Amino acid sequence: MSIFRFRGGVHPNDKKQQTEHQAIEKLAMPKMLYIPVLQHIGSPLESLVNVGDKVLKGEKIAESSAFLVSPIHAPTSGTIKKIENHYFTLMGEMNTIFLEPDGEDKWCELFPIADWKKATKDELLKQIKNCGVVGLGGASFPTQIKLDPPLDVKIDTLLLNGAECEPYLTSDNRVMLEKTSQMIEGIQILKKILNVENVIIGIEDNKKEAIAKLKEAVLETGIDIKVLKTLYPQGGEKQLIKATLNREVPSGKLPMSVGVVVQNTTTAVAIYEAVVNGTPIIDKVVTVAGNAVKAPKNIQALIGTPISELLDAGNTNREEIDKLIVGGPMMGMAQHTELVPVVKGTSGVLGLTLSETNHCKSRACIGCGKCIEVCPMGLTPIMYPRIAENESWEEMKTYNLMDCIECGCCSYICPSNRPLTESIKLGKTKLREMMCK
Ligand code: SF4
Ligand code: SF4
Repeated sequence: MSIFRFRGGVHPNDKKQQTEHQAIEKLAMPKMLYIPVLQHIGSPLESLVNVGDKVLKGEKIAESSAFLVSPIHAPTSGTIKKIENHYFTLMGEMNTIFLEPDGEDKWCELFPIADWKKATKDELLKQIKNCGVVGLGGASFPTQIKLDPPLDVKIDTLLLNGAECEPYLTSDNRVMLEKTSQMIEGIQILKKILNVENVIIGIEDNKKEAIAKLKEAVLETGIDIKVLKTLYPQGGEKQLIKATLNREVPSGKLPMSVGVVVQNTTTAVAIYEAVVNGTPIIDKVVTVAGNAVKAPKNIQALIGTPISELLDAGNTNREEIDKLIVGGPMMGMAQHTELVPVVKGTSGVLGLTLSETNHCKSRACIGCGKCIEVCPMGLTPIMYPRIAENESWEEMKTYNLMDCIECGCCSYICPSNRPLTESIKLGKTKLREMMCK
C-alpha cells in the first residue's frame, strides 16, 4: 500500500457494486451511427467522406493537418447518409458524420507493425497517431503528442492510471481484468517509446480482483503495482503522481516537468491494438448505471452509438431519471437528450434518480472553509462565486482558476450548496473568450 497522500480529496460512496462484476457485453449494431468530427482536445477535423460514399470498417473518415489532432475511423462498414450538426456531449452541437451500417461489418485493410520491438520510436508514434489513439481516461489528449516530449525534458517514469476514482464507473476496471495481457504488452510498447525503466501502475484498493490479476500478470516484467487507498480525485494526473511517487507538479506545469508521463490503463490496450493489430479506435467500453438503470452493465459500444441504445440495453426506466449524465457524477456532463453519441472519451452513462441527485437550494456561505480543505489543488473555491457575481473575470486569475481540475470536491462538500463548480466553469469560459479576442 502506498504511503503517500495528495492534498484534500473526498470520500463519496463509490457505488461501483452496481457494475464491477458485470463482464463487458457487446451491443447490437445500431441502425445509425452519429460520429462527431471532434473527439480529442483540439480543433475539429475535416470530413474525408461525402454523402453517398461507401466506407469499410476501420477506414479513416476524418482528419486534419493541424498539430493537436487525432483522426477518426469508421466503426463499421456502410454508407454515409448525412454530414451535418448533431447533438454532442460537450457543447450543444458538432459537425457529425451519419453512417448507416450495411450489416456486413467488413474491415478495410489494416497495417499492423510486424515486430514492434524492432520498430523505431517515430514509426510507433506514427502508427499510434494513424489509429486515432487518444487518452481514454476522459481527457482525450492525442496520445502521440503526449508520448513525444521536447528533447530537453528527461522522462524517468511511465505511470499507468488505473485509479478510476469516479463513483459508479467500472469500465477501466473491467478492461484491466478482461484485457490484461493486451494491456501489459501495450505498456511494454509505451516503455520502449519513452525509453524508461521505471513503470508503475497506480490502482485504488477497491479493485481487489483487478489488483490480484495484475500482480500475477506483471511478474518478471519489472512493472511495479502501487495499491492506493481509495480517495477522490486520485485519478487526476497530479494527484496520482503525488500518491505514487511523492512528486509535486508545480502550478501551471505538466507531469513531464517532474519526469513523468501518465497514461490511462485502457489507453495502453488501445496502443496494443493499434501497433500489434493495426486496429484504430472504433469502440469504447462504457459503464451504464444509476438507480433508473434496472440492469446496470459494462457495454462495448461502437463510437457514434446514441446513448439511448445503451440505456435500452440497461433496461432503464426513463420516468425515474432525474439527471442523465455522460461520464461520472463528479466530473461528467448533464445531458438534455439521449441522442448524444458515444465518443472515444465516453466512460459512463448514468441515469440518476431523485434520490441520487442534489436539489438543495444554494444558501449564503457560512465560511466553514471545508471547500478549501478538500481542494486537491490548494485553491480557494469560496472566492469564485463571489467573483463571478461581480463578473470580474480577470480577478479569478489571482486565485489560480486555471489550476482547477474541475473535480467537484468543493461543491460536493459545501453545506450551503454554493455554485462553486458552476462559477469555476463559467470563469474559465469567460477567460478563454477574453484570450481569443
Ligand atoms: S473543482 Fe477546482 S476548486 Fe473545486 S475542489 Fe476541485 S480543483 Fe478545487
Ligand atoms: S464550503 Fe461552502 S459554506 Fe463552507 S466556506 Fe466553502 S463556500 Fe462557504
